[in-house]
Amino acid sequence: MRSLLLVLTILLSSVPMGAQESPRAKNVILLIGDGLGAAQTAFGLHYANMVEGRKLHLEALMNDGNTGYSMPTPYLSTVIDSAAAASQLATGRKARNETLSLSSDGYVVETILEAAKRRGLATGLVSNMRLSHATPAAFAAHQISRYNPEPEILDDVLTGYDVDVLLGGGARALVPAGRRVSEFLPGIVDELDGDSNRPDEVNRIAEAKAKGYVVVSDRTGLAEASPKADKLLGLFAASHLPYVVDTRAMGLESVPSLRDMTQAALDVLSRTGNGFFLMVEGGRIDYAGHDNDAGTMLHEILDFDEALGAVLDFQARHPDTLVIVTADHGTGGFSFTYGDFNGRPPGRELPSGLAYAPHHSYPTREQLVALGRQSASYLYMLDEAKGSPERLVEEVRAHTGFEMTIQEAREALVRDADGKAWIEDFSQFYQDQASNPACLLGRRLARHTFVVWATGAHTMEPVLTFGRGPGAEMLRGVYENTHVYDVSMKVLQHYSAGR
Ligand SMILES: [Zn+2]
Repeated sequence: MRSLLLVLTILLSSVPMGAQESPRAKNVILLIGDGLGAAQTAFGLHYANMVEGRKLHLEALMNDGNTGYSMPTPYLSTVIDSAAAASQLATGRKARNETLSLSSDGYVVETILEAAKRRGLATGLVSNMRLSHATPAAFAAHQISRYNPEPEILDDVLTGYDVDVLLGGGARALVPAGRRVSEFLPGIVDELDGDSNRPDEVNRIAEAKAKGYVVVSDRTGLAEASPKADKLLGLFAASHLPYVVDTRAMGLESVPSLRDMTQAALDVLSRTGNGFFLMVEGGRIDYAGHDNDAGTMLHEILDFDEALGAVLDFQARHPDTLVIVTADHGTGGFSFTYGDFNGRPPGRELPSGLAYAPHHSYPTREQLVALGRQSASYLYMLDEAKGSPERLVEEVRAHTGFEMTIQEAREALVRDADGKAWIEDFSQFYQDQASNPACLLGRRLARHTFVVWATGAHTMEPVLTFGRGPGAEMLRGVYENTHVYDVSMKVLQHYSAGR
């Protein structure tokens, strides 16, 4: 009897204290790979493994085991756009496509960023897109359409709650009508400059400074400000930040990387000591998917992974931080595939003596190496080619190493009467992309890349979702993407700054 009691005591004492309590975190960092579908994630992992002989931070985090499948389904549809997806991640409520953080009935729904702010936590939004764009905007704006004028959306972001750190693009919506962006943000280089698209004389940059924001517009300014600023507004382009490959091709060293911006945001937000909510978007992955440009997309995925590296370093030093990585949807129906276009591959004798003679050509490390070598986006190459098939052949050779035929280059440059590129199959699923010449080039290079694309739009597959820190185990399983909000709120709800 005594020994039975002893066993019971040992068993009971092995149940961790407070096992019934839900986990608490002081900080939540949500990283959204826009368009980072499962195939895109696998692409990044394969490239790092097979070409660079390393594991991405994404893979390390997935290996923790707190990994789930998030269903990105909006209200009354099966395919989601970035606005509804970000709204659902931000509010935990089903949203209609193209709306920003409104209920399906059209009422304002508080976002996690706003809830955090209300409780005295610091907040931040980081993106390599315009800050008025769907993903960042959904966390701090409420609009019936993501396609409403950019100034309307950004006015919501800047005048609703004071988001402590805002870093990204979209400066043209914040400077007075009739003026150039660089007049107010001198760090923005010519290539990324632009005219105001405000309808009025309002100067949101000056207003932000008056409210205590340190305003920066290049990498140096960002590095100088982040060790001391309490509130930080960084705008690095009139519109979106360029693709990573184009930033390099154009030699734009003044443009911060997603990692630079993420690190700066962490520095500022953590210094308040109040706890924080930070959303980081790798938005250009999606755009490269819309462009059907796999090499450019790869470099965006690697760039996103670098930002995740900075976040995981922070989490290691601040274990009371929940990190969640997810995507809003897949883009383009991207995949590697195999084909017969290069003729039947040569067979060979295996050490066993058996003759191995595959029927099809399968992609290998070689295609990954080639895509990793790509040094400019398809849009950049097409721009440089200026409609000349000969120059396009040269551009493609210089930036990818692929040898196009003149005929292929001509086919990639076919335009309709309006001067728009035309995708010949499934064109109704290319919408704006039907006029995107990059998609045509992507198809003409498929025999080199072994990459095929189904569409210029989004797709419905579940997205991989995973995390580290208090509550991360709640990310296991299959769920609607609104669950990501539920988990974030659950770990933050116990925490209120100053209490
Ligand atoms: Zn998209």
